[in-house]
Amino acid sequence: MKQRLLFLGPPGAGKGTQAQLLAAERQLLHLSTGDLLRGEVAAGTELGQEAEAVMARGELVSDALVLAIVRSRLEQQAAGGGGGWLLDGFPRNVTQADALRELLEQLGQPIDLVVLMELTDAVLIQRLLSRGRADDNEAVIRHRLEVYREQTAPLIAYYREAGLLQAVEADGTVEQIAERITGLLP
Ligand code: ADP
Repeated sequence: MKQRLLFLGPPGAGKGTQAQLLAAERQLLHLSTGDLLRGEVAAGTELGQEAEAVMARGELVSDALVLAIVRSRLEQQAAGGGGGWLLDGFPRNVTQADALRELLEQLGQPIDLVVLMELTDAVLIQRLLSRGRADDNEAVIRHRLEVYREQTAPLIAYYREAGLLQAVEADGTVEQIAERITGLLP
């Protein structure tokens, strides 16, 4: 059973929506670094204050900070019997991917599958503009797409070379895309 999953794809591809559905269906821990960071911002924690301005600019929060968040949750999950998980929005660059690999080796929990959600820029920008989140104005969206291309897209080759990557077309209805994703799983 594939139960340690990673969702990869540009902002606006629908990772969060699909991750939430699949995690509920398969009882996986859904770890979204974006959601966790927004939670810290809303709660006004020190970490949140540090992350807020960076997120508003569409840049990446420091690797050390997101790593600390992910590490504590995955360690907790492993200690609680090692249930499955689904990472969404992490890793976002090669440094984070290397750190994740090391952490998972320590935990004895390798990734089973990386799902790449593919979508054209035109559709992405349309979706993000209609979402209306604080970091969803056109200039910031373009910057986030640039950051994705420069820092996150190299992970496609990274996981393809590891033999873990499967791509799905992320255009269509939520149900259609969910079906494509579950089609990759046993
Ligand atoms: P989206 O999927 O629309 O890009 P997310 O909710 O995943 O949005 O992330 C929103 C913002 O949170 C990012 O633009 C970035 O500033 C920050 N962030 C989320 N995950 C990470 C991460 N793994 N590393 C660094 N920054 C992150």
